[in-house]
Amino acid sequence: MVRFFLHPFSGVFSAAVAHFMIAVPAAPTHWVVRMNHRNRSASWLIFAVVLAAHFLEHGHGAWTWWLMVLQFLVYPHVVYLRARHAEDPLAAEIQNLLLDNFCFGLWAAALGFPLWIAYTLVICGGINLTAFRALKGLLQALVAVAAGAALMVAVAGWRFTPDTSLRVSAMSMLCLSIYLVLFARDAHTRTVALSATRARLRKSEAALQSQLQAVESLQEQLTEQAHRDPLTGLHNRRYLNTALPREIDACAREGATLALLLLDLDHFKQINDRHGHAAGDDVLCQVAALLLQSMRPSDSCCRYGGEEFLLLLPGMGLQTAVERAQALRQQVAERRWLADGQSMQVTLSIGVACAQDAGLKPAALIDLADQALYRAKAEGRNRVCAAPAVPQALVDGVAMPVHPAA
Ligand code: GH3
Ligand code: MG
Ligand code: MG
Repeated sequence: MVRFFLHPFSGVFSAAVAHFMIAVPAAPTHWVVRMNHRNRSASWLIFAVVLAAHFLEHGHGAWTWWLMVLQFLVYPHVVYLRARHAEDPLAAEIQNLLLDNFCFGLWAAALGFPLWIAYTLVICGGINLTAFRALKGLLQALVAVAAGAALMVAVAGWRFTPDTSLRVSAMSMLCLSIYLVLFARDAHTRTVALSATRARLRKSEAALQSQLQAVESLQEQLTEQAHRDPLTGLHNRRYLNTALPREIDACAREGATLALLLLDLDHFKQINDRHGHAAGDDVLCQVAALLLQSMRPSDSCCRYGGEEFLLLLPGMGLQTAVERAQALRQQVAERRWLADGQSMQVTLSIGVACAQDAGLKPAALIDLADQALYRAKAEGRNRVCAAPAVPQALVDGVAMPVHPAA
């Protein structure tokens, strides 16, 4: 923290200066403190020239000159150091501005309120605080000026000599003009910096939005991948866990039926054993493609297990579902399959179940189709068996006996 230390001064002034010089904060100086220091130093220097001209015309004593040097040449740097090292530099700078106005009041009253000089001081001080605190700031500035003037009148008595020479009046106007131009230039610089910051923010926001979109689309891809079987590209069981309750609810809401087909390739182990695992994979993919081709847009198809597939057919009754299953079974059985360069025959067994317009539980519907499939296997394979239509009483999922449909 300690950057340098002045040789010990004597007296109060040395202590004050040493206090400011010792504790140099590592943080950069607040831009308001820097800006006000620059403007205060420059414009007060010019104002000191105006005062000097006024003093020369009125023959003020040496102490007045010293006070002017302290006020207009030394003071700007002292208050700058105070604000710079304050815990809250902005608050300290506002206090500095109030102190400026108080001092302006002292000077105005001490000089007998010379019109142009007092006007220049009051306008400059008022504008400064208005910029930071709007009309409240202006009011505070006027109160501070009035307090300074009142104190001076109380101490030194009332004097009123409003006239200034043409030269001093013109110099005051020039000083005021220079200050206002400096002020306007700062306002312009801040506006430009602000719009550049806004543009940067807009750009970062756009980049953030596109990153967000990329993340969302990646999430969608991941969800899609998590719901797909990598071999056949069909939906998997995870997808079924969310799709089946949804479809059952939708059908129950619309008072429609929902058919479920459970398909299992017959003696698939033998196909693997005879033709190899690659041929088995090939068959699975071709069966998946066949199922996809036969689907309506509202149907869903998923790979339920190793060589088992499941079809969800919303709005389809048991009889029509059995006919669809028969057609599929026939298509598979009558086709000559070419898998991994080898010719073979493939058959499948299908269990069909149907949820009527009752709130049947998903597991119960699958269970019914599974029992029908089991029956188809038991009765010799390459066939379709259907579970009976589910009565209202079965909504708790109790299995019904199955009947062969073919
Ligand atoms: P069933 O007619 O009673 O259904 O007899 P199955 O041989 O089809 O049934 P089983 O359950 O005895 O055997 C299923 C076979 O399916 C065994 C397993 O190696 C094979 N299988 C499961 N998943 C895959 C796979 O992804 N690729 C290949 N090539 N074979 C698979
Ligand atoms: Mg099986
Ligand atoms: Mg099988």
